[in-house]
Amino acid sequence: MAIAATEPAATSARPFGPAAALSCRECGERYDLGPKFACEFCFGPLEVAYDHGAVTREQIEAGPLNIWRYAPLLPVPADVDELPNMKPGLTPLVRADRLAAELGLRSLHVKDDSGNPTHSFKDRVVAIAVEAARTFGFRTLSCSSTGNLAGAVGAAAARAGFESCVFIPAGLEEGKVVMAAVYGGKVVALDGNYDDVNRFCSELIGDPAGEDWGFVNVNLRPYYGEGSKTLAYEIAEQLGWRLPEQIVVPIASGSQLTKIDKGFQELIRLGLVEDRPYKVFGAQATGCSPVARAFEQGHDVIQPVKPDTIAKSLAIGNPADGPYVLDVCRRTGGAVAHVSDAEVVDSIKLLARTEGIFAETAGGVTTGVLRRLLAEGVLDPQAETVVLNTGDGLKTLNAVDSGVTATIRPSLDAFKEAGLL
Ligand SMILES: *Cc1c(COP(=O)(O)O)cnc(C)c1O
Ligand SMILES: [Zn+2]
Repeated sequence: MAIAATEPAATSARPFGPAAALSCRECGERYDLGPKFACEFCFGPLEVAYDHGAVTREQIEAGPLNIWRYAPLLPVPADVDELPNMKPGLTPLVRADRLAAELGLRSLHVKDDSGNPTHSFKDRVVAIAVEAARTFGFRTLSCSSTGNLAGAVGAAAARAGFESCVFIPAGLEEGKVVMAAVYGGKVVALDGNYDDVNRFCSELIGDPAGEDWGFVNVNLRPYYGEGSKTLAYEIAEQLGWRLPEQIVVPIASGSQLTKIDKGFQELIRLGLVEDRPYKVFGAQATGCSPVARAFEQGHDVIQPVKPDTIAKSLAIGNPADGPYVLDVCRRTGGAVAHVSDAEVVDSIKLLARTEGIFAETAGGVTTGVLRRLLAEGVLDPQAETVVLNTGDGLKTLNAVDSGVTATIRPSLDAFKEAGLL
C-alpha cells in the first residue's frame, strides 16, 4: 500500500483495543470514544474506561520491547507496534544501592525515563495521543508545553506523517527549544507562562482556525493520560510483577501521578500483581508548589500560583489534575512535598554522583523530595521505594554549574604542577 508522506497511515478494525468508552471522572456519565475531553453535564474531565478481557503476564512478556507490549491495557489497536510511530518505554529501573546507602534507605530503584526517544517521559503520553489523532483523522498535532512535550510532539508527528505546531512559553531552556524545532514543525513561543499558553490553546480549539487540530494534552487528553500508566506497568513488571511500597512522582499538571495510580489499580484488578498497599508521594519545586501547599493545609481546592522555579518542566501554576493528586496521595497514605531550587540542583548532583544518572530539574525535584521526606520521617526507610527521573539533564544544562576541573598545557609537567594528583 502506497502512503503519501503527509498521509497518516490507517489503523486496524478495533482502533481503541480494550477501551470501551470515555467516562466522566466527576459524575460517571459515559460517552463514545471521540476527541472529547470535558463532560457536557458537569464539565468534569473525561477518562478512558475499559472492558478488559483476560490479560496474562506471559502475553505481555511476549510483546515488543517498548510500551506497545501493554497494548492489551491501552486505547490502541492490537497491532499498534506495526504502525509508523515512536517506540518509547521499557526504560531502565536502576537499582540505586549507592544512593540508598547515602540516604539510609533499605531498597531504592530509580525509574530512569531520560532514555526515551526525545529524552523525557512525554514520549509515552504522546504515543497514545498520536494513535487517537490518527483514528480521528486529525492532520495537525499540537500542544501547550512546558518544554518536553513540544519535542515529543514534534518527533512523533514527523514519524507518523502529521503536520505539527506546538506552543511554549517564551524563555525555555535552549535544549528544549532546539529539540522541539529540529523535527521541522512549527514552534511558537508565547509571551507569558505555561498557564497563559494553556489558556491560548483552549481558545484556539474553540476557533475555526484550530478546530481540526489534535491537541495532545487538550482535546486528546483522555488518551494522552493513559500513556503514563505504562510507567506503572513497567515498574511492576521490572520488580518481578510486584508493586513498590513507596513511589515518588513529579507533579506538573498532576496527570502522570494519577495515572500511575490508575495503572497499579488495573494490575491488581486483573490479577497481574498481588494486592498490597502502596503509598504515592508527589513532588514539586517550592517556586511552583500549589498542590503541596493544599496538601499541607488540608485543602481540597488548589490555589493557583505564578511559577518561579528552575524546574520549568513542572512549572504549571494551575494544575488541572491537582485535586485528583490530593485524592491519590491521601487515599494511599502518601504525601505531597516541595523542595527549593538550591535543593533541586544539589539533588541532581547527588543522583549523578551516586548513580551515574544525569537528571533534568524534574529529577532533582523528585530526588530532593525523596531525601526531604526521609529526613522528616514521612517516608519509611525500610520500605521498597521507587523514585522517578522523568527527563534528561542535557536539556537543562544551565541548572548545574559543573565544568572542567582544570585547563592546562598538554604536558606531563603541567599536569603534575596543577596539584590534581
Ligand atoms: C510533563 C512532565 C512531568 C509531569 O507532567 P504531568 O503534567 O504532571 O503529567 C514530569 N516530568 C517531566 C520532565 C515532564 O516534562
Ligand atoms: Zn460529568
